[in-house]
Amino acid sequence: MDNSKEIIRQQLALLKQEINDAEKQSGRPQGCVKLQAVCKFHPVQSVLDAISCGQILFGENRVQEAKEKFEEIEKIGCNFDLHIIGSLQRNKVKNAVKIASCIESVDRIELLEEIEKQCAKTDRQIQVLFEFHTAEDSKSGFQTLEELEKALLFCAEGKAPHVIPKGFMTMAPFTTDEKLIHDSFSTMRETAEKMKKEFSNFDLCELSMGMSGDFKIAIQEGSTQVRIGTAIFGNRDYQNA
Ligand SMILES: *Cc1c(COP(=O)(O)O)cnc(C)c1O
Repeated sequence: MDNSKEIIRQQLALLKQEINDAEKQSGRPQGCVKLQAVCKFHPVQSVLDAISCGQILFGENRVQEAKEKFEEIEKIGCNFDLHIIGSLQRNKVKNAVKIASCIESVDRIELLEEIEKQCAKTDRQIQVLFEFHTAEDSKSGFQTLEELEKALLFCAEGKAPHVIPKGFMTMAPFTTDEKLIHDSFSTMRETAEKMKKEFSNFDLCELSMGMSGDFKIAIQEGSTQVRIGTAIFGNRDYQNA
């Protein structure tokens, strides 16, 4: 069931307050954490409702769905900033780089090669985050530090000049055990700090972590961007997909 515009407005306001509180409690500067509205499986109307409440940053998992929805929104003339956050097949990259400003789910060098190839065609640049595997029950992301380093090295050697590395993304395990969630996010933060030192030519400032159920923990652990779907738009209706 999709939330109505009034509920979306209230939820966005509530989330901003909660993000502010979490920033304060963690001793972090006010406004350092961005709110990305994840609208996968929700209709164009819900996105327009969020835009009318001032939301600009959105996230989508699937390129085809994102393309259909956001091309329509573009036609209407609305301003938005779209990130792709779901695992990406090579043949979807062409459309992904057309509509998104950032791909947060880079998890292999092959994908960097394809992003470079597609962006080079139109001489556009795109931001990327490197997704890192930090949770036992998830399969996505670079699995080891070595693999992650190799991908950054690939960029550092100038092999993907249209790709701008901006930081890292991870998902915590789906659990009520807060310690496991903390461990996952802190592993990401420590890994990111290591990579920042090693690859100091890049501005690896973004740490995309935290969803509806765990964003407060993510902010305590240094997140700079939370990706929130359910808490804004309601439950997803997967049968409508
Ligand atoms: C769906 C999704 C989210 C949002 O999840 P909610 O629990 O609905 O907030 C965040 N990140 C990724 C990668 C997702 O696929």
